[in-house]
Amino acid sequence: MRLDKLLANEGYGTRKDVKKIIKKGSVTIDDQVIKDVSFHVDPTQSDVIVDGIEIDYREFVYLMLNKPQGVISATEDDRHECVTDLLDLEYDKFNLFPVGRLDKDTEGLLLLTNDGQLAHQLTSPKHKVNKLYEAVIDQSITDEDIQAFREGVELEDGYVTKPAELTVQHNLEEEAEVLITITEGKFHQIKRMFEARDKQVKYLKRLQMGSLKLDESLELGEARELTEDELNQLL
Ligand code: URA
Repeated sequence: MRLDKLLANEGYGTRKDVKKIIKKGSVTIDDQVIKDVSFHVDPTQSDVIVDGIEIDYREFVYLMLNKPQGVISATEDDRHECVTDLLDLEYDKFNLFPVGRLDKDTEGLLLLTNDGQLAHQLTSPKHKVNKLYEAVIDQSITDEDIQAFREGVELEDGYVTKPAELTVQHNLEEEAEVLITITEGKFHQIKRMFEARDKQVKYLKRLQMGSLKLDESLELGEARELTEDELNQLL
């Protein structure tokens, strides 16, 4: 990558601004002062220092967000707050996007990254990545519901879902708390699966996606970078 492009991407100003910085001799690459703005540098291999401060170059960034209700799983919207609006400004330059979607009123685990390949791996139906949700349902769950989820539920548009696991945690006449594991990500899938059983989802939260578990110490709306272990298990 050209040195002027790298510094502009890293937030050192416009191309014109960074040209001045470079020409002034403020930049060293692997201990050599470089004044050539078009110098090609691989920032993953070389130490690039500007005015004594090493640039923290990273190609890919991976954040786990505890998504609150009321924000949409998008990067830009005219009317609604987006999940990327919740992130610290330092992440702006990475062009992060959400991996898959949670509905506006769904909470919980949302991965944000700029790694398109990983995003594809986690969302493509071919890879059948497990997604675990916790839900509150407006009435009790029957053995027939559990069986129907296991065999595949026919949605209102005729689509039959892939086998899903439904586990009951609390079962009261007027409300049930359940865990659901699905391997697909159809639009409003879990709500539509319960609707097909004449039941309504009152609350929905994603707890896990593949090996990645929601860090319950994150407040709603809070994000943190994945640890090395979390990332290695996902890749
Ligand atoms: N299923 C839904 O209905 N909504 C979500 O946000 C995720 C899965």
